[in-house]
Amino acid sequence: MGRESGQTCPYSKACGGCSYQNVSYEEQLSKKQAWVEKLLKGYGKVEPIVGMAYPYHYRNKVHAVFGQKKGGEIICGTYEAGSHRVVDIPECLIEDKISTAIIRDIKDLMRSFKIKPYNEDTGYGLLRHVLVRRGFATGEVIVVLVLGDPILPSKNNFVKALTKLHPEITTIILNVNDKSTSMVLGEQEKVLYGKGFIVDELLGCRFRISAKSFYQVNPLQTKHLYRKAISLAGLTGKERVLDAYCGTGTIGLIAAADAKEVIGVELNRDAVRDAITNAKQNGITKEQFICADATEYMIEAAGRGEHFDVVFMDPPRAGSTKEFVNGVKQLAPERVVYISCNPETLARDLKWFAPTYRVEEIQPFDMFPFTEHCETCCSLVPTESG
Ligand code: SAH
Repeated sequence: MGRESGQTCPYSKACGGCSYQNVSYEEQLSKKQAWVEKLLKGYGKVEPIVGMAYPYHYRNKVHAVFGQKKGGEIICGTYEAGSHRVVDIPECLIEDKISTAIIRDIKDLMRSFKIKPYNEDTGYGLLRHVLVRRGFATGEVIVVLVLGDPILPSKNNFVKALTKLHPEITTIILNVNDKSTSMVLGEQEKVLYGKGFIVDELLGCRFRISAKSFYQVNPLQTKHLYRKAISLAGLTGKERVLDAYCGTGTIGLIAAADAKEVIGVELNRDAVRDAITNAKQNGITKEQFICADATEYMIEAAGRGEHFDVVFMDPPRAGSTKEFVNGVKQLAPERVVYISCNPETLARDLKWFAPTYRVEEIQPFDMFPFTEHCETCCSLVPTESG
């Protein structure tokens, strides 16, 4: 229904990032629907997947690796599927167009500034990766230059030239990664331009996003997902809420308006720091954040006999743990809202909830068109007899 599905990518074979490249968008949606149904049908009806009207250029985060052809020509794009060979990707159908243009212009500036791409085999050269993130709501743009060495020659002129070409850039970070590693970002960071982070807006809250913090990559679909998750929680203003695996606090901070108290639990220290700042910036005083392993927190909270009315859980692809689920059952919340980016681990975890909890609603979302991934939001309530 009015969905565009005619565009194809000439680089898809070398890139390998989009496994549904030659599949129409309608068909992608039905494949994802069938996948979720196959895994979860034993738990209840799976609602029709929420797709995108325009499934292109949805990614607000773009990453490029830099390299050089045999003749010396600088290229930037991605590692060839299954290897560490850089392939040139001039444009991408799912990435934000402005971010792609910034990366291509950085590539062109390298020649005049005599910046060499880093060679992973020899350790020679300077620029390894560029990461760009754009706040779709605010238009703020962060550019992270990942170098193999802390010194960027003529850095002021480089910053001037880049921001002249792209006045939409609000901050530029120099990140140093001098290790032989497949991690993109190194430890050391220096702000070259602007305030060092961007701010984006989602459902009435403003979120600070720094180079390393987790932020959902598809803001349009994230809005639909969060709205659904919060509505499934059925908040009335009186609830004590747990937001487990909270990242920078997004879900809990948006839900706080309709709750009495929120506790956010997250393992990543940088994310917790951002979450605390986000709460302050939004004037939210009823949420506290705890930096801990979600399972350990849950076991302790259950041991203390704490009570939560609602538990949100949004674990990474590996899913949660049996101990976490047992802890939730002991705390006996009236509602659990599970947000999952991997239906396989979701199916496994739902089994642990049964028979004490039953699944009430299952709603898939297409957060990652053209890839095989699927997001699912599902609500659980105590089984009457349980
Ligand atoms: N709810 C957030 C983040 C979801 S991503 C959002 O929507 O933006 C999953 C988060 O779980 C990441 O921030 C990751 O750092 C965190 N995480 C991973 N393992 C964890 C663990 N064992 N305990 C607590 N948090 C964990």
